[in-house]
Amino acid sequence: MNFTTTIISKAVQGEVLTENEVTVTGVEFDTRKISNGDLFIPLKGKNDGHDFVSKAIENGATATLWSNDPATAPEGIAVILVNDTLAAFQALASYYLLEENPDVIAITGSNGKTTTKDMTESVLSRKYRTYKTQGNYNNDIGLPYTILHMPEGTEKLILEMGMDHENEISVLSELAEPAVAAITIIGEAHIENLGSREKIADAKMEITTGLAPDGLLIVPADEPLLEDRIHSLSQTIETFGIQQGDISATILNENKGATVFSVDDSGYQIPLPGSYNVQNALIALAIGRWYGLTNEEIFQGLAYVQVTQNRTQWLKAKNGADILSDVYNANPTAMALVLDTFAKLPTEGRRIAVLADMLELGEDSAALHANMVNHINEQDFQEIFLYGEEMKALKIALADRYQNLKIHYFAKTEKAQLIEAVQESLQAEDSIVLKGSNGMGLFTLVEALQK
Ligand code: ATP
Ligand code: MG
Repeated sequence: MNFTTTIISKAVQGEVLTENEVTVTGVEFDTRKISNGDLFIPLKGKNDGHDFVSKAIENGATATLWSNDPATAPEGIAVILVNDTLAAFQALASYYLLEENPDVIAITGSNGKTTTKDMTESVLSRKYRTYKTQGNYNNDIGLPYTILHMPEGTEKLILEMGMDHENEISVLSELAEPAVAAITIIGEAHIENLGSREKIADAKMEITTGLAPDGLLIVPADEPLLEDRIHSLSQTIETFGIQQGDISATILNENKGATVFSVDDSGYQIPLPGSYNVQNALIALAIGRWYGLTNEEIFQGLAYVQVTQNRTQWLKAKNGADILSDVYNANPTAMALVLDTFAKLPTEGRRIAVLADMLELGEDSAALHANMVNHINEQDFQEIFLYGEEMKALKIALADRYQNLKIHYFAKTEKAQLIEAVQESLQAEDSIVLKGSNGMGLFTLVEALQK
């Protein structure tokens, strides 16, 4: 990236306050990441980035956006005055995108966005120069950040689009103008903010607001809420599913390390467990086909995908036990799927589950937690550790239904006791699954088991 201050000010409809023309080669909003030649974007959140501009200068920034009083603008750096630094950041991303003009692939859904994004990039990278959202940078700040960090010459840009309120995805879609858009699943994540599954479906469908008229929309086959909403669209629509939809998979073999499946008589595999990950892979496959990749290229992309950490990851405990770590986030759909998947996998010893609170579920939270009792069977699981206030409801439901299942409960403040109890119980032949919202911090337990 190479932008002069004049070009930037035009792109963001700002005004250069300083005299010398400067060229910037990167953008950052976090002063700790600034390197020589960067443009600093002072955002207003919990803190006001404007207060840190001297740190940005110290670290080598050569220009900054500025939306405070021009009289308080810093010295020793080129300053571009704008009304709103976030809006300007987005406008600059939009400008860079138009200039580079890669095909944008946009991925949203309640679960599986990051995994699908990683799989899609892995597939498309077999044939094209690709770039993707790093980590989970999927919101109104993360999206322009991703775009502005895209290397020159990128042919396919794969963007994760996240939301927790309505009218957020539409902003991202209109900014990125995707050629392909995909919805992974309509779940219950953020139902507290949105109110109903219908509203969640509407919010996911906002991904089509910026979709190219000759573009492709990929949606799950088993979702009536989407069926009702795609009729009026002029774009090509493809549905996917296990044994259903335009892209229909048959699962051939599922074990700890990999899931093998076929689509139209071609075999594929992913290094991940769970039919839900096959669903994610079907999106990547559909996009690979759309862009003319061979079955072999798609096979390679899926088989060798490296997914972002802590999303359904097999790890080894120090004592040799198998850990299925899925501690990055949790909602009822995902927790049920992970429990169902884990219950089916072979184990030499016992199956143990550590389940922590699923956050932000609103007034139905207790019932949604208690409902997990339907995904835990005392033939499949021998010991359950529950952690957090919301999990009390599941503790009661499990105790009501089962006599032989060992159940342990720990309050949010009893993390140390939880870790100790799990470490004490876990034997070398056992398999253990861990799932909970990121805010519950189960990753420290995963680390403790590995040490
Ligand atoms: P976030 O909203 O935090 O960005 P995400 O949508 O990017 O999440 P991933 O990080 O890919 O989702 O996966 C998170 C977890 O969701 C997985 O570890 C798994 O438990 C579950 N999951 C993944 N794919 C699916 C799917 N297609 N359907 C349901 N659950 C899924
Ligand atoms: Mg994500």
